[in-house]
Amino acid sequence: MSEIEQLLRPELRGRTPYGAPQLDVDVRLNTNESSYPVPDAVVRAVSAELADELSGLNRYPDREFTALRTALADYLATQAGVSFDPEQLWAGNGSNEVLQHLVQAFGGPERTALGFTPAYSMHPIITETLGTRWVDGQRDAQTFDLTVESAVEQAGEVDPNLVFLCSPNNPTGSALPFEVIEAMLDAAPRALVVVDEAYAEFARPGTPTALSLLADHPRLVVTRTMSKAFTLAGGRLGYLAAAPGIIDALRLVRLPYHLSTPTQTVARIALEHADLLLETVEAIKAQRDRIVAELTALGLAPVPSDANFVLFGGLADAPATWQALLDDGVLVRDVGIAHHLRVTAGTPQETSRFLAAMSRLVPAHM
Ligand code: PMP
Repeated sequence: MSEIEQLLRPELRGRTPYGAPQLDVDVRLNTNESSYPVPDAVVRAVSAELADELSGLNRYPDREFTALRTALADYLATQAGVSFDPEQLWAGNGSNEVLQHLVQAFGGPERTALGFTPAYSMHPIITETLGTRWVDGQRDAQTFDLTVESAVEQAGEVDPNLVFLCSPNNPTGSALPFEVIEAMLDAAPRALVVVDEAYAEFARPGTPTALSLLADHPRLVVTRTMSKAFTLAGGRLGYLAAAPGIIDALRLVRLPYHLSTPTQTVARIALEHADLLLETVEAIKAQRDRIVAELTALGLAPVPSDANFVLFGGLADAPATWQALLDDGVLVRDVGIAHHLRVTAGTPQETSRFLAAMSRLVPAHM
């Protein structure tokens, strides 16, 4: 063991960091970003606002990001049809940071978090690096569904302090039935139940959002992000809605002034242009549905998706197909599920590149 490893917290020794490759290739479809640039009108509006603010950077930002919280509440009222007081909203540098705040405040030594694999890989990483025990619950190995019965049984066995549900689920794509969320609140009576809705805006029509359950469930938290549908991954703004008491708890663990003035401004101005920024959502959904249809026609097994990506199975050797696609200039994600890869729905041209490459690879790669 090296000298540094000896200094390192024992539970971190030998771990590998989160690391989706950031490669300079033609078609990058591996991290579920939006392929569409920020529209000119938004660039101009943000630039004008920042120009006014930059000389004021000698002062710390508004620690309570008051204007941004109001803008987030307005957005959720319009997009999801659920009204919140700004006191019920919280934000961070990406939803990863708000998830970290939740574990900092509600996890800790002697506490246990439960998630249902395969799901978002950062849930266990954030949990364990903060010294909270992680229990890897399971989804159906074939369909990746999580049924009420299975969720209730697993929660009963673990009696968790924190539960992570992901809907639509990354990397499998489908949204959770509402009943699973409600059943989880009953089956884990000591737990804070976190529903990660990073991809909510891409859900198929009729998919409910857990935001509408918040009024009746004080132990529920719903996290969202501007990284996906808002085409703003580089802006780093994630947020959550919860009871005001939960927000107060998060104030205990956040670093002072954690949201910089430019971050608050970019996000706030973007929210003012929500309609424009979200215009690409339907186009992305159309490419997602096209990927599902065309991969099915090729004889592969895509999982139905409510997100901006598709997980597909039926590959003989997923790492080999991943490499063959990369050799063809198309970067997708190997999420570590045997015989499966995940691809982000990009522009029509990018999707065509991916599908053309796949049609060259099958049947040899099946
Ligand atoms: N939750 C899920 C399910 C995700 O897939 C991601 C990003 N891949 C995040 C949260 C975090 O995104 P961000 O920190 O950019 O908001």
